[in-house]
Amino acid sequence: MRFLSKQTICLFSALILSCGLLNQCDQVKNNYYQSLISFADEIKVIDTHEHHGWTEDYGDLHFRLPHLITESYLMQDIVCAGGQWIVMDRADSLNLEEYWEINGKSLDYCRGTSFYSHFVAGFQKLYDFDDLYFTESNIHDLSAQVEENYTNYRSWFDEAFHKAGFELMFMDRWREPFNTKMDEKYFALVFRIDILVLHSSLKPGKGDNIPEIFKRALDAGYELNTLDDYLDYCDKLFQMYLENNVVCVKNGMAYFRSLDYEDVPYEEARALFDKPSAELTKQEAKKIQDFVYHWLIQKTIKYQLPIQIHIGFLAGAGNWLENGKPMKLNNLAIEYPKARFVMLHGGFPWTGESISLGKMFSNVYLDLSWLPQISRQEAVQSLDEMFDAVPYNKIFWGGDCDFIEEATGSLEFGKSVVAEVLAARIKRGLLTEDVAKEMMLHIFRENAISVFNLEEKLGRTF
Ligand SMILES: [Zn+2]
Repeated sequence: MRFLSKQTICLFSALILSCGLLNQCDQVKNNYYQSLISFADEIKVIDTHEHHGWTEDYGDLHFRLPHLITESYLMQDIVCAGGQWIVMDRADSLNLEEYWEINGKSLDYCRGTSFYSHFVAGFQKLYDFDDLYFTESNIHDLSAQVEENYTNYRSWFDEAFHKAGFELMFMDRWREPFNTKMDEKYFALVFRIDILVLHSSLKPGKGDNIPEIFKRALDAGYELNTLDDYLDYCDKLFQMYLENNVVCVKNGMAYFRSLDYEDVPYEEARALFDKPSAELTKQEAKKIQDFVYHWLIQKTIKYQLPIQIHIGFLAGAGNWLENGKPMKLNNLAIEYPKARFVMLHGGFPWTGESISLGKMFSNVYLDLSWLPQISRQEAVQSLDEMFDAVPYNKIFWGGDCDFIEEATGSLEFGKSVVAEVLAARIKRGLLTEDVAKEMMLHIFRENAISVFNLEEKLGRTF
C-alpha cells in the first residue's frame, strides 16, 4: 500500500464505491424482476393462441422426447442448422442413440436460439430437468419421463396445464378446421377461416377434384353454384361455430397468399365466381378471395367476434416472408372501424409496423404470442416499444404450440420477457411497481377476458 499515491488510493476507493452502487442497482433491478415473476406465477393465464391436439390424433405412436421435438418449433431450427426433419413415424422407429447420431450435432448448434431455450424451459418447469441443454446422456432420463407421462396424456395434460398456470387456451385447429368439438374445461373455440377464402376461387368443374369446402357443402346437401350460394354456406358455418361458443376468428392466410385484400364490388366478384375456375387469371382468383374476406369481416362485426391475423415470420421450411407484412392491413383497419383486428406474433421482422397500426387504430390489438420464441430479444425490444406507443389494454399473450411442454416453456419465456421489460421501466422511473403488476395482469389475463367477451365462459358475473 505504501507504494500507492494518495490519488491512486482515492481512485480505487471511488471505483470500489461505484461498483458497490452498481451491484446495488442490479440487485434492485433483480428484485423488481423477481417480484414481477412471482406475481405472474399467481395469474391464471388466458392463453389466446394454441394448436393443441391429443396423442390419438397422431395414430398409434409411442411418445418420447423425439416426438415432442418433431412437433416443436425447435425442429425448424434443427433443419436450419443442417439436420433432418424427422417426421413422427420415423421418430417412433428410432432409439435415442440413433436419434442423437442423426440430429445431435444440429441440436447443439441451436443452443443459442429462442426456439431451443423456450422448449427447454418447459421441461425445466414441468420435469425433473435442471440443465440448460439437451445432451447425448441427459436425454435418456428425460425421454423416459416423457414416455411415462404420455402413457396417459390427458391426465398428464391436466396436471401440467394447472402447474404451468393456465386457465384457458384458445384453440386454433388448423389441421381440422371444421371440428368444433373440444374440451371446454381447457379450450375456447377459434374459427379458422382460411379455407373459406382460399377455396372461394376454386369452384370445381366437371371431373375436377372437389375442394374441401365444396365437398362439405355437398355432403350437407348444398350445391355452391353461385357466389350467393357460397356466402350462404359460409354463414351456415358461422352459425355452427356460434352454436359451439366460438370466441374469435383466425386468419392464417399469410402462409398461402399476401395479406393485401382489395375492396372488390359485389357485381364483379359475382361475375368472376360464375366463370369456370380453371379460366380465372391469378388476379381474378385473388379478387374473388378478397371479396369473400371483406364479406367475412362484415360478419365478424355482426357476430361481435375479433379477428386474429397471422402477421410476419412464417413457420416451416421456407415460404414467402413478405406475404405477412403488417402494413398490408392498413386499408382494412380504416374501412372497418367496428371490426376488431388482433395482430398475432408481433409481425417480426416488421414489429414497428404492427405497433404503429396498434397506436393509430383503436380497433387494432397486438398479441405477443410466439414472438418471444422466435427471438426473445426482439420480443423484449418490441414490448418496450409497445409500452411506449400503445395503451396496455390492447396487448395479449399466447403460446402457439402443439403440446403442453412447449406451451409451458412459451409461458415461462413470455413471463420472463414481460417482467424484464417492466422491471427495467420501473428502474428508469417510468412506472411504479403497482402499475407494472397491473400491466402484467392485463396482458396475461384481463385484456383477453374483456376483448374476447369471456366473462360468461369463465363464470364471471358483473
Ligand atoms: Zn399459430
